[in-house]
Amino acid sequence: MLEFNTIAELRKALKAERSKGKTTAFVPTMGYFHDGHLTLMREAKKRADCVVVSIFVNPTQFGPNEDLDKYPRNLERDRSLAAKVGVDFIFIPTVDEIYPKGYSTYIDVEGITNALCGRQRPGHFRGVATVVTKLLNIVQPDIALFGEKDWQQLIVIKRLVSDLNMDVEIIGIPTVREPDGLAMSSRNSYLSAEERSAALVISKSLTLAANMVDRGEASASKIASALKELIEKEKAVKLEYLEICDPETFAPVEEIKADTLVAIAAWVGKARLIDNTIIRPKLENPGNLG
Ligand code: AMP
Repeated sequence: MLEFNTIAELRKALKAERSKGKTTAFVPTMGYFHDGHLTLMREAKKRADCVVVSIFVNPTQFGPNEDLDKYPRNLERDRSLAAKVGVDFIFIPTVDEIYPKGYSTYIDVEGITNALCGRQRPGHFRGVATVVTKLLNIVQPDIALFGEKDWQQLIVIKRLVSDLNMDVEIIGIPTVREPDGLAMSSRNSYLSAEERSAALVISKSLTLAANMVDRGEASASKIASALKELIEKEKAVKLEYLEICDPETFAPVEEIKADTLVAIAAWVGKARLIDNTIIRPKLENPGNLG
């Protein structure tokens, strides 16, 4: 695995790969790898000749009172995990390399960034959209992989790639979970043992939503009430939002008639955790589908 810290060096190496006819897959990250990140890298490896991973804790996507300074970092461990998976190039730029003096250009994806996490974290998706656009322009991969754990982020990136006519295929990868259901996240490292076990109620509530729909419940408000009741039993978990909405537009849904997103953000101690699932209405009469 080769490491690059400057855009110029990475570009030169990628140009050489492309001139040999190699395809490239890109996995942008903020580091502190867990199996969710490694799954994205393994998938990338299956789909392209040359896998590029970036580690950049992007300051523009953090609000003034958020955890930028405390965000967990361990480059030594990340390098060795990425090398084991077979990553070819790892790109670890400084903040000045990405945002040099005089930097003034930002990408705003309108509408869909006013919902869910975008509503709670003003400017967050502007930072995400800006850095992802820059990284995609730098790497110019054939494909780029993102986790469905950050569902809204995935939809925002698909939107900007389409709107800006970028020649890259965006691939979403299902959420990787701990054996007990907790969605893997670098921020899980903030949790004490008690908080970690309280946090389980988030994924449990998503399972409850899926089970309710399977049993024929179609009312979003009934599902939302049941989930909130379950989550409120865990005193250590403070629900920030629970939305049942269209998975592409994030418009609220009242009746579950098609694929619907259940998205949750909650605070557990110092950790702001997010998770989601897609619920599908039960087919009334599957035998009649021919
Ligand atoms: P991050 O380092 O948190 O910015 O995440 C980098 C990439 O890994 C993003 O595309 C995330 O959506 C993805 N990711 C993070 N956690 C998971 C997970 N548990 N399962 C699948 N993908 C994930």
